[in-house]
Amino acid sequence: MSNQPQPQPGIAEITPYVPGRAGALGPGPVVMLASNESPLGASPAAISAFTEAAERLAEYPDGSATALRHAIGEVHDLDPDRIVVGAGSDELLHLIAQAYIGVGDEAVVSQYGFLVYPIVTRGAGGVPVVAEETDFRTDVDAVLKATGERTRVVFIANPNNPTGSYLGETQLIRLHAGLPSGVLLVVDSAYAEYVTADDYEPGIGLVDRSENVVMVRTFSKIGLAGARVGWLYGPPSIVDAINRLRGPFNVGGPAQAAAEAAVRDTEFTRRLNTHNAKWREWLTANVEGNWLTVLPSQGNFVLVRFSDAAGRTAADANKALRESGLVVRQMSAYGLTDALRISIGTEEAMRKVATVLNGMGRDG
Ligand SMILES: *Cc1c(COP(=O)(O)O)cnc(C)c1O
Repeated sequence: MSNQPQPQPGIAEITPYVPGRAGALGPGPVVMLASNESPLGASPAAISAFTEAAERLAEYPDGSATALRHAIGEVHDLDPDRIVVGAGSDELLHLIAQAYIGVGDEAVVSQYGFLVYPIVTRGAGGVPVVAEETDFRTDVDAVLKATGERTRVVFIANPNNPTGSYLGETQLIRLHAGLPSGVLLVVDSAYAEYVTADDYEPGIGLVDRSENVVMVRTFSKIGLAGARVGWLYGPPSIVDAINRLRGPFNVGGPAQAAAEAAVRDTEFTRRLNTHNAKWREWLTANVEGNWLTVLPSQGNFVLVRFSDAAGRTAADANKALRESGLVVRQMSAYGLTDALRISIGTEEAMRKVATVLNGMGRDG
């Protein structure tokens, strides 16, 4: 041991998160399809609100985000007292882990679940326990089997990033019903606004009927990734714990103002959903061939699996896309070396992606 300050043991176990913008880009125009940002930018109302709020930059923001929580409550028909706002849902996930996971405790994550869950678990001194997936879907039985004596939290992204798969309401209810009452179920519905499946429920009903479920949401995927605003809806006891722990001014004033305008701009959110559904379906239909598979997705992205034949691997596709200025997400951090995750973007971007992938051949 050196004499230098040492981080807690769990910190060294963290595999650093690699964001979608990493890596050198060539000259020429670049289209980012690597971080599941909004395909239509931000709501114009949100941009105006952010700009106006800049006039008050010298002032501390409202530490309890009252106006924003009330706006979310009105739009989603929720009690604002049961909402907490965070600097992105990432902050809320960290706070949940700190509040509910101790040294040596376990958190159950799905095999291809969002990679922030193991990070926040390790950060709290806990150990992530992986439940194997079946056909790239969260396997409810595997999750329940992985849940044991030391389990404190189960993290489920619904729909999941990067696979795009989701659990219908019945499956989510079944998962919750199988958990001991002392285990906290975190339903991360980061892509709820993009879902088109009829049997989907973002977790609100489950929160309302239980004491051990919290739903986490974000503004990042609907146009405000740069503002860093997320929120959670949970039972009073969990809301109280998170409010005690969080920084008193954790979300900036312009970010709160932008999010309040964005949540009220339901017309813009609807346009996002419609655009995304159309081009998600179009891209899937136009690139799928018998050597390339597009997994069914409920998010604003698709996971594409490639071949292991020379010239048709995920690395080959990534190179071809980059050469055309299209930046997508490599998936080796998830153990999916044969896959790329492609965000749904503008019509122009989607047509370019299809042209590049089809240029690699459609059959064989
Ligand atoms: C993008 C994402 C988030 C995090 O979003 P923030 O930008 O921190 O609000 C959370 N969960 C999942 C599954 C995501 O894909």
